[in-house]
Amino acid sequence: MAGLFALAVSAQAMALTPWQQITQPVQGTAQAIGGFANGCIVGANPLPLQANDYQVMRPDQHRYYGHPDLLAFINRLAGEVNQRQMGTLLIGDMAMPAGGRFNGGHASHQSGLDVDIWLQLPKQRWSQQQLLKPTPIDLVAVNGRNVIPSQWRPETGELIKLAAKDNEVTRIFVNPAIKQKLCDTAGSDRDWLRKVRPWFAHRAHMHVRLRCPANSLECEDQTPPPAGDGCGAELASWFQPPPPGSKPSRPSTPPPLPPSCQTLLDNHFAG
Ligand SMILES: [Zn+2]
Repeated sequence: MAGLFALAVSAQAMALTPWQQITQPVQGTAQAIGGFANGCIVGANPLPLQANDYQVMRPDQHRYYGHPDLLAFINRLAGEVNQRQMGTLLIGDMAMPAGGRFNGGHASHQSGLDVDIWLQLPKQRWSQQQLLKPTPIDLVAVNGRNVIPSQWRPETGELIKLAAKDNEVTRIFVNPAIKQKLCDTAGSDRDWLRKVRPWFAHRAHMHVRLRCPANSLECEDQTPPPAGDGCGAELASWFQPPPPGSKPSRPSTPPPLPPSCQTLLDNHFAG
């Protein structure tokens, strides 16, 4: 989720975090630790860069690590997208080798259970150059209220629906205008819409979040989204002007790390 955090970036926050200096996964049984926005991961795996069913963008950033459950989800989704000949799945940021906090751009993606997937599904595979400098397609009109009809294809909605129907997925963040489009076109099959949550930015990609793996005992799940398809008053509130006197959120000091993540850092930098 880039939106809120982008507002919160300060000069201090631009310094590299210790997590960005860890270049290899921490050895051990895979464990997602802590919360999505304050956590880390032991035993992460790299998503293989060579694959038939997806392509990994900006591989030079080394943000293609995750819990094995996340890799399995990406492979499942990519396989379905390929089987339906919807195009090539473009994988964006996952987590760093040991997870943890980025110095900008993301507040979450910290425990190896989040992935950004672009909503464009190119018919042709991209070249290495394109993958290194990917060009996003903004699906949301300038007014922020609706998608751009010429950019929205049936496959766009189908992709989000496929991801939302996956049992391991608990939340998908998209721009409110994208959620609105899904609400308007879903028809009678609507249960999956509950997982699709409106959020700032997310105009060209969806952010997919998985549930805590069964054996990750220190992993903190979020409470499930409210009941219903989320297409009513809550979504409408995103299109209202902010109440008078409200101020944009201010940068906040990150909370203390989960003890296991602090230990992981201490051990890494002691040795
Ligand atoms: Zn994200």
